[in-house]
Amino acid sequence: MERKIVKLQGLPVDTFSFDDAVDYALHSHGQVVTINPEMIAYARKNKDFAAIIENAELITPDGIGVEIGLKILGNSVKRIAGVELARKLIEMYTAEKKSVALVGAKPEILAKTVENLKNQIPEINIVYAQDGYFTDEQTVFDALKNAKPDLLLTALGSPKQEIFNNRIKEILPQTLAIGVGGSFDVWSGVVKRAPVIWQKLGLEWLYRTLKEPKRFKRIFPTLPLFVLSVIKERIFRKV
Ligand code: UDP
Repeated sequence: MERKIVKLQGLPVDTFSFDDAVDYALHSHGQVVTINPEMIAYARKNKDFAAIIENAELITPDGIGVEIGLKILGNSVKRIAGVELARKLIEMYTAEKKSVALVGAKPEILAKTVENLKNQIPEINIVYAQDGYFTDEQTVFDALKNAKPDLLLTALGSPKQEIFNNRIKEILPQTLAIGVGGSFDVWSGVVKRAPVIWQKLGLEWLYRTLKEPKRFKRIFPTLPLFVLSVIKERIFRKV
């Protein structure tokens, strides 16, 4: 399957549907970035982070912000929730008898995530699980090199997880690594996703902000500034 990439604020975004993204990822290795406006804003200030995104093997539009941004530029691309993509990849990798590793989140969240995944996907082959509060990164890299997972999920928040996964590409060139943000918190059952109707309306961000008001400062002013910046991009057709 060929990638069809569009640009948003100078950064690439893949236009695959959910199913095609899963299919593409299943037969790839390297790095999956589930891009959102906060990451785009950060990449515009940080060239190294921008380069990591540009060199990713798959960049999926995570959330309504990116969907709206692309729409303003005339591209109708449907958003792909990173948490759903990652979950589907675990199922598909498991169905192909491929192994999985998890890195990230608090120890008790990770433990509960492993327990829940094992219950829900009995055939799952988790070859390594490490919480996200380690001090010696090299030990984790060495352990991963040993475990050789086919699929690696990193829940370290952004940009940590993208930087981590970028390093993994050199260490484990055959692995597919995806940064999954707060997904373990959801899979552990500790954090609930917004009800489906909120998701469908593209208001999951609002639901999460209402539930966890400290997220407010992450969304504002980033989200409105992002939209303004894309409108400017549209008007001047340059970033
Ligand atoms: N996290 C971690 N190590 C760190 C910082 C964060 O494991 O040093 C975890 C955190 O516990 C959470 C996840 O990374 O499970 C990211 O959560 P966040 O809500 O920031 O994700 P996002 O909103 O970016 O999806």
